Amino acid sequence: MPIYEYRCEDCKGKTAKLVKGFDAPESIACRECRGENTHRIISSVAFHKSLNSRLQDLDPRYDRMADAAAASTAESDPNRFLKSAIPLDAAED
Ligand SMILES: [Zn+2]
Repeated sequence: MPIYEYRCEDCKGKTAKLVKGFDAPESIACRECRGENTHRIISSVAFHKSLNSRLQDLDPRYDRMADAAAASTAESDPNRFLKSAIPLDAAED
């Protein structure tokens, strides 16, 4: 069940409400002042984790595995451009 957050326009208080189903009410009674002048705000708990935060949560072993795999590729050689370079006097016009 999603948790929706509401901000009160009168007292600026925030009220969280666990909603059954997915139809969030447009406004609820403010927990602080009991006013009804609330509107739903986007709550962080309503979002799935971003790809970036999921990658940061990965086991550090995955980093080492990725580094090891990358080190064995041709692109890992810092001199790869020099090796494929042709000396100026050998280059055709
Ligand atoms: Zn209020």
